[in-house]
Amino acid sequence: MQDAHLNLIDGMWLPGDHLIQNRNPSDQSDLIGHYAAGTASDVDRAAQAASAALPDWQAKGPLARAELLDRIARRIDEEAAVIGRMLAREEGKILPEAIAEVRRAAQVFRFFAGEALRLPGEAIASVRPGVDVEVMREAVGVVGLITPWNFPAAIPAWKIAPALAYGNAVVLKPAELVPGTAHLLARIIHEEGCPPGIFNLVMGPGSVVGQAMVEHPLIVAISFTGSVPTGRAIARAAALGMKRVQLEMGGKNPMVVMDDADLDTAVAACLNGAFFSTGQRCTASSRLIVQSGIHDAFVERLTKEMLALRVGPALAEDSQIGPVVSVAQLQVNLDYVALARTEGCEVIGGERLNGPTDGFFQRPALFLNASNRMRISREEIFGPCAAVIRVGDFDEALEVANDSEFGLSAGICTNSLTYARAFRHRVRAGMVMVNLPTAGVDFHVPFGGTKGSSFGPREQGRHAVEFYTTVKTAYCFAG
Ligand code: NAD
Repeated sequence: MQDAHLNLIDGMWLPGDHLIQNRNPSDQSDLIGHYAAGTASDVDRAAQAASAALPDWQAKGPLARAELLDRIARRIDEEAAVIGRMLAREEGKILPEAIAEVRRAAQVFRFFAGEALRLPGEAIASVRPGVDVEVMREAVGVVGLITPWNFPAAIPAWKIAPALAYGNAVVLKPAELVPGTAHLLARIIHEEGCPPGIFNLVMGPGSVVGQAMVEHPLIVAISFTGSVPTGRAIARAAALGMKRVQLEMGGKNPMVVMDDADLDTAVAACLNGAFFSTGQRCTASSRLIVQSGIHDAFVERLTKEMLALRVGPALAEDSQIGPVVSVAQLQVNLDYVALARTEGCEVIGGERLNGPTDGFFQRPALFLNASNRMRISREEIFGPCAAVIRVGDFDEALEVANDSEFGLSAGICTNSLTYARAFRHRVRAGMVMVNLPTAGVDFHVPFGGTKGSSFGPREQGRHAVEFYTTVKTAYCFAG
C-alpha cells in the first residue's frame, strides 16, 4: 500500500502484522494514512537489536550523543510546520498549539543535548586510607517508552531525549490514535544518524505491543504516560520482571479562586486551564474551587468567555478549540455531562456540535453548584469540562483541593502573599501554580505529581537522570 508507514526496527522500516487507518478527528473523511501494527515478535526483534547495539553506542561517549540530539532538535524545528500539521490533523489540537508543541519537542532535545555533557558523578573520600571512592552514573540499558495520544510530539520527546542523552537504547510505542507524529519524529531520529537498533519505533495496540514491551526480559525499564488503569497494569507486570518503572497518569487538578483574586487573571487562567487543547491535558483544571464573595462575578465572566470560544476543525484559522480526539472519548464526555445533571449540577454548554466537517466537536462545559463528593469532581473526564465548587474560606478551599486521589498540578489565583505561600506549601500536588493556569509548564524543570497521579522518579529537567541512569560505586586502591 502506497501510504503505509512502517515500524523502525534495527534501522530498517519493517511492516507489522497489519495496517491501522489513521483518521482526522476534525474530519472523518480525511484519511491521514495507514500505520503498521506491530506484534510481540516485532518487539522482540527491536529489543534484541537495541541490546546488541548498546556497547558501541555507549563507547561513542557523550559528545556523539549530544551532537545527535542537537541535530534532531534542529531538524524538528526546521520541519515544525509539517509535523505540527500532522499533529493537528491526527490529535485535533489547533494548529498554533500543535506547532508550539513540536517546537517544545525541539527544545527538549536541545536541553538534553546539553545534559548529555553534564552527566553528574561524585568523588567521595573513603573511610579507608589510600582508597578512592567514586559514585558514577551509567545508562540503564534498553528502555521501553509508552506514550499517550494527547501530546504526540512533546511526551515522546521528553522520554526519548534523556534516554538517548544518557546512553540508553529505546523502543518507543506511541498511542494508537497518533502514530503519524511519532513516525515523523522516528524518521528524523533515523535520518540524523542514530545508529541502527538504538532507536526503535514499534506502533500498534497497547494490549499487544505495550504488553510485550513490559514483559520483555531485555527491556529493563518502562517509562509510561497514560491512564491510571493502564499504569497500574504496567506496574504489576513490571514488578514481576523486576523492571524499573516511571508512571505519569491522570489528574483532577484544582484551581482555587480567592475573593481577592484579580478577576481578569482568574478567568483567563481558568479558561485556558480548563478548555484549551479541548481539556485533553493531564494538567487541565477540572475543579474550579471558588470563594463565595467572587463566585457569582467569576461564573458570569467565565460562562460568557467560555460560550464565546470558537470550536471547530483543528486546521481552521479561526478555531480556538479543536475536536475531541475520538468518538469514544466524545461519548465519555457526553456521559459525564449527563451525569453532572443527574448529580444535581446546573450544566452550561457540553453539547455535541455540528461543525463544517464530519468531526467530534463539543462545546466546552461548566458544571455549576458542584460538590467535591460528586463523581464528576472525583473522576478524570479528560475533556473540555470543569466543575465549579463554591467554598467559604481558604482552609475549606485547601481541604477540597487536597481531597482527591490525584495530585498532579494545583493552582491558586490570589493577590494575597499569605494565601499564595500557604497554598504552595500545603497543597498536595507535584506542581503548583500561583496566578497561572494549572496546565502549561517549562521544559527544563521536573514534571510529575503525587498520590495517584505519578509513580517513580520525575520526568524532565535534570531530574530525568534519576530514571534513565543507574548508580555504580567504584572503589580503587592503588596499592
Ligand atoms: P492509555 O492508558 O489508554 O494509553 C496510554 C498508552 O498505553 C498507549 O500507548 C496505549 O497503547 C498503551 N497501553 C494500553 N494498554 C497497555 C498495556 N496493557 N500494556 C502496555 N501499554 C498499554 O491513555 P491515553 O488514553 O492514551 O491517554 C490519556 C491519559 O493519559 C489520561 O488519563 C491522562 O491524564 C494521561 N496523561 C498523563 C500525563 C502525565 O504526565 N501525568 C500526560 C498526558 C496524559
